[in-house]
Amino acid sequence: MLRQVAEGVLVHESEFCQSNAVVVHGRAGVLLIDPGVLGYEMAALANDLRELGQPVVAGFSTHPHWDHVLWHAQFGAAPRYGTASCAATIQALLSDPHWNDRVARVTPPDIAGQIPLDLFGLISGLPAETARIPWDGPQVRIIEHQAHAPGHAALLIEERGVLVAGDMLSDVLIPVLDLMNATDPIEDYLAALRLLEGVAGDVDVLIPGHGSVGGSDQAHARIEQDRAYVHALRDAGVSSDPRISPSATFGKDFLPGVHERQLQQLARRRDRGGVPG
Ligand SMILES: [Zn+2]
Repeated sequence: MLRQVAEGVLVHESEFCQSNAVVVHGRAGVLLIDPGVLGYEMAALANDLRELGQPVVAGFSTHPHWDHVLWHAQFGAAPRYGTASCAATIQALLSDPHWNDRVARVTPPDIAGQIPLDLFGLISGLPAETARIPWDGPQVRIIEHQAHAPGHAALLIEERGVLVAGDMLSDVLIPVLDLMNATDPIEDYLAALRLLEGVAGDVDVLIPGHGSVGGSDQAHARIEQDRAYVHALRDAGVSSDPRISPSATFGKDFLPGVHERQLQQLARRRDRGGVPG
């Protein structure tokens, strides 16, 4: 079910992890951002768009994680974009003949059979420093940063006051740092939050990759909440983040484990000595 959150901007929330697919109306069709996760949900979204007479004319993936680079054949053959670094990361994965196995290791087993992988990760990288998504519709500014994943991009639809945050600024997921790739994951994350803070005043509607769509007050509030969490990680302190409390949406299952793993990996980095963060 598509829900309008701003003029010409609609969201489809998945049953998987409150993932948000975002539809932006353009002149000749729609831009589809982070299209979805489960095959039947993407097929239903494609049907809804067909009934609205709105072909998909462009796609965009905010970052190269499996749940943001899926596609359904019924969306058609529109160009699918990401940042250069996002595309390079996913192309490196696809060049491994056993990439299916690697994806299978990180997808939840209970939904694995419902995730269509035939069009997985077919992303064209936009040249570095590309300011806007090339398409015939409202201008969509690309705010690239290093924090959660290589080449992660938030998108600002300026004339609609909408920020599509990718896997930043969620009300249900804690910040998940790029501990695999980053040299200084803590500082990268804090820098990304500062970058988003720079546009937060222009945001009326905040759409996270997972979680609830927020209003203008939520941009600043979630930046502060994420910063407090990252500071607690940095200082190896106890985090009182409500998102990992047992009563939170994902506070009983995987998030406390993610939090513990991040603490341990950062401690190991410190023990190795000299590596910041
Ligand atoms: Zn992610």
